[in-house]
Amino acid sequence: MPRGEKYYGPDFNALERQDPEIASVVISELERQRHDLQLIASENFTSSAVLATMGSTLSNKYAEGYPGKRYYGGCEEVDKVELIGIQRAKDLFGAEHANLQPHSGASANVAVYQAFTKPGDTVLAMSLPHGGHLTHGAKVNFSGKWFNVVSYGVRQDNELIDYDQLRDLALEHKPKMICSGATAYPSLIDFEKVRQICDEVGAIMWVDAAHFIGLVAGKAIPSPVPYADVVSFTTHKVLRGPRGGMILSKEKHAAAIDKAIFPGMQGGPIMSAVAGKAVVLKECATAAYQNYAKKVIENCQALASDLQKEGMRAVSGGTQTHLALIDIRSTGVNGKVADERCGKSGISLNKNSIPFDPESPAVSSGIRVGTAAVTTQGMGREEMKVIAGLISRAIKNGDDENQAKEIRSEVHQLTKRFSVYPEPSI
Ligand code: PLP
Repeated sequence: MPRGEKYYGPDFNALERQDPEIASVVISELERQRHDLQLIASENFTSSAVLATMGSTLSNKYAEGYPGKRYYGGCEEVDKVELIGIQRAKDLFGAEHANLQPHSGASANVAVYQAFTKPGDTVLAMSLPHGGHLTHGAKVNFSGKWFNVVSYGVRQDNELIDYDQLRDLALEHKPKMICSGATAYPSLIDFEKVRQICDEVGAIMWVDAAHFIGLVAGKAIPSPVPYADVVSFTTHKVLRGPRGGMILSKEKHAAAIDKAIFPGMQGGPIMSAVAGKAVVLKECATAAYQNYAKKVIENCQALASDLQKEGMRAVSGGTQTHLALIDIRSTGVNGKVADERCGKSGISLNKNSIPFDPESPAVSSGIRVGTAAVTTQGMGREEMKVIAGLISRAIKNGDDENQAKEIRSEVHQLTKRFSVYPEPSI
């Protein structure tokens, strides 16, 4: 590049020239995202502004430490971006402290354990088969290996969190920390009640808000921030930011959280992602985003209700969030097969255990659907009805290749009307 020429970011043509093999995968993935239906509850279409930061030269900068206290020189510019991001996070969520450096949701959770517990301590968290995340005590995960994680779950009659059981377990086990938040729980969590239980047993209140923080940012559901000691989350689900994590906390925990991230378990932050987080926090502070968050829930409620009309059952009777868990046993098809059939029909969703599932997690009796991405595309009530019909046909139509092709072509006709990129409708 000639000296003095303006250069701000990546040049896709350069990638195509230099490495056509990888460039073609990037293009095919963009086409897949554009043409197929994206109903994975943890995915979204981030804005071009966020993508620009992630492909920027901020990626080159090492910045171990925090603004003003770095272990490397030349951090003046990246200090600015992190400080702007921290302030935006505190303003948007009304938080006393924010750390934008976690590389992912799981990294943020490792830091939370490290800040408040020691290996062997007891932690209370949502049971995995009832919607909890791997970092909430799965035996194959560090959390289940290094901590004594006791699980609470949902009631069998209404499939909502059993707060009586949660309190009984807390009184019995005296956990150091209680985690609320899940990866497949369609209802709201009563943070006030959880706070009371934490106070009763002297436990740290940790909310893993990875899934629903975008709805909180958009003021569509109540916030855990006033109640919790610490709130960890991912930035790439409903929030619609770059792939990464974030932690909010009370000021009294600020030093413990910051130390747990660095030097506790990470080295240098990914400054391009930190910049992307700052950008999305600005987007989230707009009326347009608040409108989006509200619509995500409306769409999900419509989709759950339309799937019920197709003969499937929405766990807990419906949803109050961006995701719905659907018990598909009435179709005679298990979650694994449904996931595969939908995939062949151009519909991306995932198999999911339902509470008290008789099937193993690898097979499961349910599917999980989310409306964050299709709502970003601008879809609404009418499209949810069409999508429910397409899912139903894909699941029930057996393994007929022609039917799958036909459904896929209808999916493409739908998504063509709601294209994403060059810019999703943010
Ligand atoms: N916590 C919850 C509740 C999640 O749902 C997820 C991811 O889906 C994570 C943590 C982990 O996030 P990541 O995949 O960014 O590590």
